[in-house]
Amino acid sequence: MGLFDFLKKPKQKSLEQQNEEYLAMRDEEERRLNAAYDFNSVAGIMAIPVPCREVNGDSATGRVEYYLRGRCFAQHWGAGRTELALACLRKANELMYVSDMIWKRDDFMRLVYYLRKAGRNDEADVEKKKIDAYFESKNIIRDSVTSSLSSAKELDSDLVEITNSGICCAECAKYRNRVYSISGRDKRFPALPAQFKPETFTYNHVCLSVWPFIYGVMEPSFECKNVIKYSNRPFVDDRTKEEIARYDAWRADMAEKAKREAEKAKRQEEYIWLEQNLPQDCPKSFSAYSRMKSGNTQGYQKLQQLAANMGRKI
Ligand SMILES: [Zn+2]
Repeated sequence: MGLFDFLKKPKQKSLEQQNEEYLAMRDEEERRLNAAYDFNSVAGIMAIPVPCREVNGDSATGRVEYYLRGRCFAQHWGAGRTELALACLRKANELMYVSDMIWKRDDFMRLVYYLRKAGRNDEADVEKKKIDAYFESKNIIRDSVTSSLSSAKELDSDLVEITNSGICCAECAKYRNRVYSISGRDKRFPALPAQFKPETFTYNHVCLSVWPFIYGVMEPSFECKNVIKYSNRPFVDDRTKEEIARYDAWRADMAEKAKREAEKAKRQEEYIWLEQNLPQDCPKSFSAYSRMKSGNTQGYQKLQQLAANMGRKI
């Protein structure tokens, strides 16, 4: 080693090399997963416990549900092993319901999509209801508030603070950035509104978060000179013009996303119908179908006519 070698910059790895290392890591993750569980029989996949034992530490790509719904599913489905492929997605959904990773509705819906593709419409209906219920019940919000209340209890405090996570509606603005007394017995602070208490829980917005608080030990997360005085200020919508504009823009964005998701779901249903009823004329992939529909191409118009002749509007 030369005297000034330590001054040399470490060599930048080439993209190719980085890619190779990534693939090697994924292969190693896959090897460890297959050593822990049997992914090649329906009984083996069904036997994976929920929640399961993670074998790749904190890696997202090495998680059991990630592997099941990704590579493992694709290999079985691609090879025509429908039963194994569906078993992968069923188990993946079970694990996603209890995962500490956040999975989106679309991620859960992959199971419904492929059940329909395989002609299991009854099971698809059941799974879709389950997914809808999971996302509608707002379990996520309730659980996080409940866990903050029990943390406060563990810390031997009767106080929580309610903070605002960035976007805020008119209703939530009234409650944000205050310290509350859970029991209502600490008269220095307002009593925690019933909508946040486990026995009367109805809060279903995303604007506010609840955190345990200890007076005299913790600083509030919001800015104020006197936390007692500030927590007792009038309960009114005190958002600035900018905050209102940000909230309105977020709402518009969410509505747009919901519209796009609904359109995608509709197209997926159409595509499955085409695969089953017009296999000769159906495009090779869903994305090809989606593209021709967006472009309203001649091919699409022809397909539309064929479907109409069979009484199906696409
Ligand atoms: Zn709100």
